[in-house]
Amino acid sequence: VSDDRGVGSRLAHGGEVLDAALAEIVERFRPVRTGDVASYIPELEHVDPDTFGIALCSPRGHVYAAGDDGLEFTVQSTSKAFAYALAVTDVGVDEVGRHVGFEPSGDAFNAISLDAVGRPDNPMINAGAIVTTSLIRGADADERFDRLRSFMSRCAGRDLGVDEHVFRSELATGDRNRALGYLTRASGSLVGEVADATATYFRQCSILVTVRDLAVMGATLANNGVNPITGDAVVTSSVAQTTLAVMTTCGMYDYSGEWMVRVGLPAKSGVGGGIVAVKPGQFGVGVFSPRLDERGNSVRGVRVLEHLSSDLDLHLMAHARSAHSAVAQSWLDDLGAHVALVGELDFVAAEDLVVALETLFDGPLPAGSTLELDFSRVTVIRPTAERVLAARRARLTAAGVHVVVIDPGGVVAGHETAAGERLVG
Ligand code: GLU
Repeated sequence: VSDDRGVGSRLAHGGEVLDAALAEIVERFRPVRTGDVASYIPELEHVDPDTFGIALCSPRGHVYAAGDDGLEFTVQSTSKAFAYALAVTDVGVDEVGRHVGFEPSGDAFNAISLDAVGRPDNPMINAGAIVTTSLIRGADADERFDRLRSFMSRCAGRDLGVDEHVFRSELATGDRNRALGYLTRASGSLVGEVADATATYFRQCSILVTVRDLAVMGATLANNGVNPITGDAVVTSSVAQTTLAVMTTCGMYDYSGEWMVRVGLPAKSGVGGGIVAVKPGQFGVGVFSPRLDERGNSVRGVRVLEHLSSDLDLHLMAHARSAHSAVAQSWLDDLGAHVALVGELDFVAAEDLVVALETLFDGPLPAGSTLELDFSRVTVIRPTAERVLAARRARLTAAGVHVVVIDPGGVVAGHETAAGERLVG
């Protein structure tokens, strides 16, 4: 299965392996038929309960999929993560935080989970999501919705539509959400009119997506806010990070704690049966299967992601640190000492370098010697590594060592350290 959005369709090699793995997962979990489709929004009952699809999008923009990967369903609560990202982009994390908290509620998605000052516990439950939507910039409910729909479309890389039947069905029956709107408006959390906020919220929940869309939307968050297919920088890396953090602690309703133990990925589920999960830096996953467990999470979706996480070793807390040293080569010759570094330099990589420098001469580099540091194959230097390197360079220079930096890619030059000293003088 190749994606039709552009870059993804370039994929040839390797693609069939993941497509086949996903197809196998779909067949493996297809017999699971426990749970019921959501019925409290009458129109949601009309979905075929046995539909099932999965897609995965890499940060290179390749999409792999299996099952009903082209089937549209309503995004429901998975929209909450994206509404939050837009609100944080619009007014900043602190201002959003004055209206909606950051703490897992441990309650059901539609519970009255308000803290001591009447602020919803977090933006991933209904109370918090309705408030979040009210914070999105716009002259009225229509403009706020248009901005959110276009924002989510940019995350997905295609224009997303709305299921008007589901919207009307929820608008007609959503008294509990309106009640949450009034409670949060009374405490000063919700901004503007309740009817406006809930109408925008019901419409955002009725946006139509496929598992491919969810995978790309997740990959946009995984990829520092840049849609990996269109290259569109939809949010800043800091907004992506904040959104993923809240998804990690609060995204799976009152299953969020156990989810973190068993799956260990930021995720958001919706009562339509969709789940978006993210492996930061690696990929976004979308799963759809409309039968829900008692918490409102897709039964197959949870099972599939538990399986994927352990099978592909994705748990956030599992750290498979590569055995490769950042020091690709180090040698001595008549010109002095040479060290070539490779990859992304973090604290551990900087430590590798320091150790290599000390062992090269069986002791400190002698005064008057030259040290050539080659950064040509370094991709990024993280701030901690920058500081370690700057401190080491200062010590070497003070000891009379002449440090020469090779940096054709400019990864080093211009990076100021916290102390204001530069790695290269
Ligand atoms: N539109 C749904 C509601 O507010 C979304 C709930 C959900 O997916 O958790 O009831």
